[in-house]
Amino acid sequence: MSDSALELLRRIFGHSDFRGEQAQIVQHVADGGDALVLMPTGGGKSLCYQLPSLLREGCGLVVSPLIALMQDQVEALRQLGVRAAYLNSTLSADDAAEVERQLLAGELELLYVAPERLLSPRCLNLIDRARIALFAIDEAHCVSQWGHDFRPEYRELTILHERWPDIPRIALTATADAPTQREIAERLNLEDARRFVSSFDRPNLRYRVVHKDNGTRQLLDFLAAHRGESGIVYAFSRRRVEAVAEQLVEAGLRALPYHAGMDAAVRAANQRRFLQEDGVVMVATIAFGMGIDKPDVRFVAHVDLPKSIEGYYQETGRAGRDGEPAEAWLCYGLGDVVNLRQLIQQGEAGEERKRLELRKLDALLGYCESTQCRRQALLGWFGEPHPGACGNCDNCLEPPQSWDGTEAARKALSCVYRTGQRFGAGHVIDVLRGVRTEKVDKFGHERLSTWGIGADLDLRQWSSVFRQLVAAGLLEADIERHGALRLTADSGPVLRGERELRFRVEAPKAARTRGKSRG
Ligand code: ADP
Ligand code: ZN
Repeated sequence: MSDSALELLRRIFGHSDFRGEQAQIVQHVADGGDALVLMPTGGGKSLCYQLPSLLREGCGLVVSPLIALMQDQVEALRQLGVRAAYLNSTLSADDAAEVERQLLAGELELLYVAPERLLSPRCLNLIDRARIALFAIDEAHCVSQWGHDFRPEYRELTILHERWPDIPRIALTATADAPTQREIAERLNLEDARRFVSSFDRPNLRYRVVHKDNGTRQLLDFLAAHRGESGIVYAFSRRRVEAVAEQLVEAGLRALPYHAGMDAAVRAANQRRFLQEDGVVMVATIAFGMGIDKPDVRFVAHVDLPKSIEGYYQETGRAGRDGEPAEAWLCYGLGDVVNLRQLIQQGEAGEERKRLELRKLDALLGYCESTQCRRQALLGWFGEPHPGACGNCDNCLEPPQSWDGTEAARKALSCVYRTGQRFGAGHVIDVLRGVRTEKVDKFGHERLSTWGIGADLDLRQWSSVFRQLVAAGLLEADIERHGALRLTADSGPVLRGERELRFRVEAPKAARTRGKSRG
């Protein structure tokens, strides 16, 4: 590492040392190399292009998708004495012309540009005439059509490489699953760039997953342990956001809603309050979060199931950026799964993408149901080995009890089969437990061989069994028929008693009951 980089780090940014791989990344880019940087949120990505911009001759050009974010960054840089500016739609023509003049006059060290602006002929022409130190492509996962942050303009950024092959490029993201990584490299023409993959472990985050029975009460219990702290509560839909925020306010919490359907001014005001005040709970859809730099977010709670492990990881990554203990809490139920499946199935996306999204959802379910160390499971998903037993997740702190569910699984699968693979878990459980309902009468299900064979487990226990069977891919929910359960190719060996199954015991109460009756 050159002395000058470290010296600048200390003198301008006031940090005593580089963190993680920052030093290598800065050196590589300052020397003119291309880089693809995968670093978790809060890892310190900005420095990786800011410092090389200062070290190299010319102005560093930063492509950033979020206007609010670039304004914050520019403001922060100016306070450090760095000559920074941005070009986006919020500037008046005069102000934009002044920024352009500064760029051409070599008076700028860093310039943030929105992607659509950058791609305009005017801006490309400007780049031709200016001295550019590097191109930084922030939030590079926006190039991936599989992610929810997809920005079509990001696809066109290859023009940077085509027109100015000698200017180094650095792409950065906190989304690091293998398919997205591959897509970024391909789409941005960065196959030959050096990759810097930081550990995605966030040791100060405590992961917990609970099964939903009364979501609101569970959330309030969770929040009671975080009184006066700032945090984010993610919910599935705009309507849910409104409802949950209202419930929290009624419970006396300083909660604010945030979703894309709100009036822009109110939304911005809520975001500002969250950033500036202490102890605000932001109830939000995933529209909230990208680029939110608030170090002391003490918890991220999901009251509904997120869509994928990547999404979940990124959302929880907004907690504890200051390195102090923080909690990632997820509350989910089978209803969430059915909702999300339906949403994916009915969406506009093509078949291939739908299948991919369904697989991602399954993977997340598997994570929820797993009795494995959460950290190990999460990092494993990103291809990072972890020995497990982290001591800071629910599965490590309170090892889940498991029980031999081979017999229960056979009963469940065979009842799904006998009832014709056209009912949801609710009805199948009624048949198993021998609960007489209108539906049972209508279909004559009290005459089935599986009628009442599951009276030894209660409704809650059976729900858990079905959920875990779905998560393990031994049953699948038919979207077209409102979650009707069907057997899968893997069901056979279980039905025939050839495969042993262990299930997670959901709650201590259930564990005791089962422990007695099953030994
Ligand atoms: P990211 O973009 O990866 O989410 P940032 O670049 O916003 O992360 O950095 C996150 C926080 O870490 C910022 O508050 C930043 O000042 C701080 N930071 C970055 N690098 C260092 C360092 N080498 N030493 C101390 N703090 C750092
Ligand atoms: Zn653990």
